[in-house]
Amino acid sequence: MTGPVLHISRSAFRADLAAVRQRIEPSELMLVMKDDAYGHGLEWAAGEACDAGVRWFGSYDVPAGLRVRAVVGPRGRVFAWTTSTAVEAEAAVAGGIDLGVGTEAYLRLVIAAARRAGLPARIHLKIDTGLHRNGIRPEDWTAAVALAREAERAGFIELVGVWSHLAEASDAEDDEAQRVFLRAVAEARASGAALEHVHLTASAASWWRPELRGSLSRVGAFCYGIRSADGPELDGIRPVASLSAPVVEVGDGWAALGIGAFDGLASTLAGAHVGTPGGVRMLRRVDATRAVVDSWPGATVGQDVWIFGAGDHGEHSATALAERIGTVGEETITRLTATVRRVIED
Ligand SMILES: *Cc1c(COP(=O)(O)O)cnc(C)c1O
Repeated sequence: MTGPVLHISRSAFRADLAAVRQRIEPSELMLVMKDDAYGHGLEWAAGEACDAGVRWFGSYDVPAGLRVRAVVGPRGRVFAWTTSTAVEAEAAVAGGIDLGVGTEAYLRLVIAAARRAGLPARIHLKIDTGLHRNGIRPEDWTAAVALAREAERAGFIELVGVWSHLAEASDAEDDEAQRVFLRAVAEARASGAALEHVHLTASAASWWRPELRGSLSRVGAFCYGIRSADGPELDGIRPVASLSAPVVEVGDGWAALGIGAFDGLASTLAGAHVGTPGGVRMLRRVDATRAVVDSWPGATVGQDVWIFGAGDHGEHSATALAERIGTVGEETITRLTATVRRVIED
């Protein structure tokens, strides 16, 4: 084999899921699977998590949500939160995908889609708690809840959740966001909505701020063993994905690896340390199709060098590499192209 390989560890994923679920209980895990499960492969990850007992999956968009549904069948609930087209919304209703709804216009679109599908749409109404990206503004909340409740009484929707997303910029801002959130939840309940779930937090706040957790916690990164950039290590969490590339040529003091910028390896990673059979060495250069690393005694074509991963060969985590170049661990993994083979291992 001459190409790079992203090794995906089933056992690490299971252990991370267990650690996250234990940490956040009694809040229930919604496993976030956007960007093809953060580059780990959506189908495999959904199946593994479902077998481990995970019952909520967050998919970002409807097409990915339908892929999750195809894997988990009736065993899991799937939540797609980005604003979708009418056609997608109708497919979501038919496929039993819960929809996140963050504008009144989208609420009307979903109601119309449910009417056409002949089935109620399950929706989670999003309150804007300060991020100003998507979400119903507090001043518009009363009207949106009234519209949703009216559609619920008419049988077009089921208002099953209220949710929002935190900026995670400071604790004080997140505390204020929670106050806005809880007022919105109280108002929805007072209107008669039988909410099944309320959810506010992603990885970092779910892990570190128990008082902010709702009945569901939407966690992506930490479930794949990706800690926050500039954040601390996490008890019981380790990287699920490790990237290796084979030595393709050996020269005087250097070894060339069969991975390069075209495979999605950032050229700015030059200077990072990687794990070689002879110990940790410096990555000197990342060219278009190759990377050059300082050599070790006995370096041979075909040996594997570990670029990032769980650390079993001395390599750093994806997040540690990302911190060198001012990005996040998720990005280091998701930017790898399809030329990198994904291999699921135990
Ligand atoms: C990405 C995302 C999450 C998960 O974030 P992590 O930090 O990866 O856990 C949760 N909710 C929303 C709305 C997101 O976009």
